[in-house]
Amino acid sequence: MLIQLNNTCSEDKANELIDHIKSVGLKPNQVVTNNAHYLICLGKAEVDIRTIGKLDGVKDVHIVDDESKLVSRQWRVNDTAIDLGDEITISRDNLTLTLGPCAIESEEQVEEIVNFLSENDVKLMRGGIFKPRSSPYAFRGLGIEGLKFFSHQCKTRGIKVVTEVMQVSQIEEMYPYVDIFQVGTRNAQNYNLLDALGRLDKPILLKRGMSSTISEFLAAAEYIFCNGNENIILCERGIRTFEKMYRNTLDLNAIPLLKEKSHLPVFCDPSHGIGIREHVETMALSSVMAGADGVLMEIHPIPEKAFSDGQQTLNFPEAKRSIDRLKQTRNFRKMLFQENSKTT
Ligand code: PEP
Ligand code: MN
Repeated sequence: MLIQLNNTCSEDKANELIDHIKSVGLKPNQVVTNNAHYLICLGKAEVDIRTIGKLDGVKDVHIVDDESKLVSRQWRVNDTAIDLGDEITISRDNLTLTLGPCAIESEEQVEEIVNFLSENDVKLMRGGIFKPRSSPYAFRGLGIEGLKFFSHQCKTRGIKVVTEVMQVSQIEEMYPYVDIFQVGTRNAQNYNLLDALGRLDKPILLKRGMSSTISEFLAAAEYIFCNGNENIILCERGIRTFEKMYRNTLDLNAIPLLKEKSHLPVFCDPSHGIGIREHVETMALSSVMAGADGVLMEIHPIPEKAFSDGQQTLNFPEAKRSIDRLKQTRNFRKMLFQENSKTT
């Protein structure tokens, strides 16, 4: 059971409700977010939700059977929209493209990409400054100095910065320069990191763990939410399977399932999902048909010279063509399914 408290509910009143929940045999967990105040009540005791709904301080009561409660669509039926400021909103109403290099390499590289994004009306730029690499000898990113010029260049053109944080100790120094913190696949079940990001007032883009089930993916998002941060984007990026012909198996099935199970926005990263440049666009378009609210793709002025992931990175003409086709695909899907706006 999920109880939403009135915004005016005092601490004393909330404590009274907590005592009441305990007295009926349930275990209450209090969650205070940037938006609301909840009690997640767990246990098997049968309770009459109408009685709970009448208690002083209670705004709403919902039965949520899903394992993950706050991220579930069982209680919040409308899609969550995330306001990034400057009239940029992530929602099902507009496809959010997030393009940029695998890694930030130099100020010149950032400048070229920012120019390209501005010309093509792309509002979010991705780029790693702390890179999780399979080999310790590979390029591991420019760190905070790279983030400073990345952020500076983006700010001057009204573009939002999306970059990966790998550990709790990096959050504080990154904070002023980041608009959306990305959690990479390797950290998708790093619960200390998820806890810490849940205490922030900036959105989190959570990649699916490469061996996470959909339930585990949603549970990771629940960690962030129950620590207070409701602004979470789920990102399908492929899972590990027996297939070796491509880098990962992009699980397109996950997209409609996540949209059904959760009210959170869902993105897709076909670059890491397939890992083959020639097929990134097809998978990106397919993800939009599957219902993705946003697409993350790696682009570079000269992919052949990229410090990392060049084999899955689009050059500017390829990216431009993909942007146009992605927008057309989005419009086609809207028309086909007659999708209407339904956001919270
Ligand atoms: C990335 O997007 O830069 C990245 C490393 O992705 P993932 O964590 O999905 O491998
Ligand atoms: Mn990459």
